[in-house]
Amino acid sequence: MDRFLVTGGAGFLGSHLCDSLLAKGADVVCIDNFFSGNKDNIRHLFSRNFFELIRHDIIHPLFVEVDKIYHLACPASPIHYQLNPIKTVKTNVMGTINMLGLAKRIKARILLASSSEVYGDSQVHPQPESYWGNVNPIGLRSCYDEGKRVAETLMMDYHRQNNVDIKIARIFNTYGPRMAIDDGRVVSNFIVQALKKESLTVYGDGSQTRSFCYVSDLVHALMTMMDADEFSGPVNLGNPAEFTIIELAEKIVKLTKSSSKIVHKPLPSDDPVRRCPDISLANDKLHWTPKIDLEEGLVKTIDYFKEKLGL
Ligand code: NAD
Ligand code: UDP
Repeated sequence: MDRFLVTGGAGFLGSHLCDSLLAKGADVVCIDNFFSGNKDNIRHLFSRNFFELIRHDIIHPLFVEVDKIYHLACPASPIHYQLNPIKTVKTNVMGTINMLGLAKRIKARILLASSSEVYGDSQVHPQPESYWGNVNPIGLRSCYDEGKRVAETLMMDYHRQNNVDIKIARIFNTYGPRMAIDDGRVVSNFIVQALKKESLTVYGDGSQTRSFCYVSDLVHALMTMMDADEFSGPVNLGNPAEFTIIELAEKIVKLTKSSSKIVHKPLPSDDPVRRCPDISLANDKLHWTPKIDLEEGLVKTIDYFKEKLGL
């Protein structure tokens, strides 16, 4: 049985990944400092024999023995990663060095959860892996965007210099149950606002686009990538169906049968205008394509938040 380390395992994606690994009979060590994650996401796993939780901050070295490492630790929502931007850089740089050092010592394969943010405010559409991006190095999003870019650099350099077995996954906007209610990302914000009959806060005119991947599709892609022996990426993982933020707001109002209105708020700085993954590489190398369309995924996510809000 393989033993996996999941950094950021108490977060939104990490907790679903822990579930799926355990369901496949793996032994899972989850580490988290609970900066943006929550014990409630993994509480149902505490009694499982093959699940261990360690409270640990990855900016400090970690000594464990595992076969494979999923490196997800890093706040993902703009409000969370901008709360303490220096810490976000430390997590991406020192944290990734620590995890790569661990992978090198124990000869473990390591997968980095990178981000579509490495493309910044992209001038190429949809974004292929070959595009080098258009990133502001000194803006409010830079701690995350540049943090992920240097994390990718570190992965490649540990591979070239120390032969570490690496995988780089560039994740595009993913949503689903267990996003935090106060997470600040658009899907959870709009659903919570609609369910509470508050106005939906569209930033800017809402013409900016995103492509939304349901969490089960993404977790499946990460596990397929980890198992791919001859392919290390970077690979785009996301759902290529593209929507404007206004379209998303209208869909959520309709699906929740809410009386909420839409209000416009200022657009945050450096907010990418268009984002959509070119997933031909994932199709080709991993034979992966997302299965859950936006409406189906939103219904499942709305059900989760209804329960969470006691509605
Ligand atoms: P999340 O914020 O829910 O989860 C991140 C987890 O990492 C949290 O549990 C947090 O407490 C933990 N963490 C943060 N800093 C840490 C540190 N220094 N030491 C230990 N643990 C730490 O976010 P998520 O959506 O689950 O994202 C997981 C990963 O996937 C992140 O690396 C993120 O950048 C990447 N990603 C996510 C998306 C998405 O749409 N969900 C898109 C692109 C990339
Ligand atoms: N957004 C919005 N209202 C919100 C939250 C986000 O209009 O309440 C917009 C945000 O400006 C961005 C898009 O939705 O254009 C996606 O934002 P999110 O924070 O989910 O992720 P991003 O892709 O920007 O990292």
